[in-house]
Amino acid sequence: MTRKELNVFKKQLLNEKALLLQGIGAKMKGSPKTGDPEGGDVCDIASSDRERELTLRLSERGREKLREIEEALERIEDGSFGTCEMCGCKIPKGRLKVMPFSTTCVACKSKEEKQRKLYEGSADYALARDLGSDMNKEDED
Ligand SMILES: [Zn+2]
Repeated sequence: MTRKELNVFKKQLLNEKALLLQGIGAKMKGSPKTGDPEGGDVCDIASSDRERELTLRLSERGREKLREIEEALERIEDGSFGTCEMCGCKIPKGRLKVMPFSTTCVACKSKEEKQRKLYEGSADYALARDLGSDMNKEDED
C-alpha cells in the first residue's frame, strides 16, 4: 500500500474519530438537537429512561469503536495496517474502505464470528469476549 493510500485511510479514521467524539459529547450534554421541553410528565420520563438506556448502549459501543479507530491509527504508524493479524495476508482495500479498522481478512473474520456465536446466548458471553480480546493483546506483545 502506498503512503498516499495510507494517508487516505488515516484521514478517514481521524474523521470517524472526530464524529464519534462529537456524538458522545452531544449526548452527554443531553441531545440539544431534539431538545428537551421544560418540565415533562410521566410519559416523558418513561421515554427518556429508554433513551438513556439506548445512549448508554451506544456510548459503550462508541468507546469500543474509538479503541478500534485508535488501534488502526497505530497500525498505520507501525506499518502493519492492512495486514490480517490472524493469517498475515493482505486485507483487500475494498474491505478497508468500508471498515478501515478491520484487523482481519474476510475469511478470518467469519471464522472468528463462528466462534463468537458459540458464546452467544450465554451470560458469560461479554466476559468471555472481553477476556478473549485481552488475551489476544498479550499475545501480540
Ligand atoms: Zn486472514
